[in-house]
Amino acid sequence: MLSARQVVAVIGYPLKHSLSPVFQQAAFDAYRLPVTYEAWEVPPASLAAVLTRVRQSDCLGINITIPHKEAVIPYLDCLDDLVRQVGAVNTVVNRSGVLWGYNTDGPGFLRALAEVGVSPAGQVVLVVGAGGAARAVVCALARAGAERVLIANRTPERARALVALAAGLGQAAVVVPWEPAALVAAGQQATLIVNCTSVGLRHTPTEAASPLPAAALHPDALVYDLIYNPAETVLLRQARERGARTLNGLSMLLYQGALAFELWTGRPAPVETMRACLEAALARRG
Ligand code: NDP
Repeated sequence: MLSARQVVAVIGYPLKHSLSPVFQQAAFDAYRLPVTYEAWEVPPASLAAVLTRVRQSDCLGINITIPHKEAVIPYLDCLDDLVRQVGAVNTVVNRSGVLWGYNTDGPGFLRALAEVGVSPAGQVVLVVGAGGAARAVVCALARAGAERVLIANRTPERARALVALAAGLGQAAVVVPWEPAALVAAGQQATLIVNCTSVGLRHTPTEAASPLPAAALHPDALVYDLIYNPAETVLLRQARERGARTLNGLSMLLYQGALAFELWTGRPAPVETMRACLEAALARRG
C-alpha cells in the first residue's frame, strides 16, 4: 500500500511529444494512488545520475524512450528475459532499491491484437522495419508462435540481423529484399502485415509516403501500423481501400503503458480510462 507521495517518470531526449504522462496519470488517479507521473528530459550524459535518482524510495520506476532504451541496461540490476532477447528496456521498476528492467512493447503489441480477436499463431507475418520496435514485435511473434516471419528493411544488414535474432528464438524467418516486386510478393503471402518503420509519421518528410507498394496489400490481411499519428497513415488508407482490416499503433501504445502500470502497482490497469485519455490527447494535438 502506498502512503507517502511517489513519483514515476518517462525519460527521453528530446521529450516533446510523449503521451505517457497524460494517460499514466489518469491511471494512478483512477485508483486515487498518491503518485505523480512526470516527464524528465534526460540528455545522455545525465543518464547515470538519473538512475541514481530512480533508486530512491519515493520512485516507483520509469518509462524509457528514445535514445535511452539500450543505454540504460548497464545501470540495471535485474533484467527480464524479454529484455535479454530484444536488447532494449522501456520500463524500470524500483523494488526496494533494486532496479528491474522490462520491455512491454512486444507484449503490448500482442495484447493489442488479442483485443480484436487476433493471434499471430500459425500466421505468415510481414514485418517492415528492423529497428527497436521491429525487434520487440519479432520477439513477440516468436513467443506467440507465428508460422513464418518475412522481414523487409531499407538497410539489408539490419534485416539480416533481425532474421538471425528470430532464428535464435526458434522462429522461422527470412529477409525480403527491399524492392517493389519482392515486397508485393511478400505482402501477398502474409496474413498479418506490420509496419515498424517511421515511414508515414506525422510532421516528418515521409508523412505522405507508404513503406509498401499498394499491391502488397490484400483483403485477407490485417495491416497493423505501429504509427498512431496520423490515425490513418497512407499505408492504412491504401490497405482499407484494398479491403484489408486495419489497426493503428494506439492500442500498442495503450497496452505497453497498461503493462508498465501493472508492473509498478501490481493492480489491473484501468485500460478504458487510459484509452479515453490517449484518444482525447491525440485529438487535441491533431
Ligand atoms: P528506429 O529508429 O529504431 O527504426 C526506424 C525504422 O524505420 C528502421 O527500420 C528504418 O530503416 C526505417 N525507416 C526510417 N526512415 C525510413 C525511410 N525513409 N524509408 C524506409 N525505411 C525507413 O525506430 P523504432 O523502431 O523505435 O520506431 C519505429 C516506429 O514505430 C516509429 O514510427 C515509432 O513511433 C513507432 N513505435 C510505436 C510504438 C507504439 O506503441 N505504437 C512503440 C514503438 C515505436 P533503416 O534501418 O534502413 O534505417
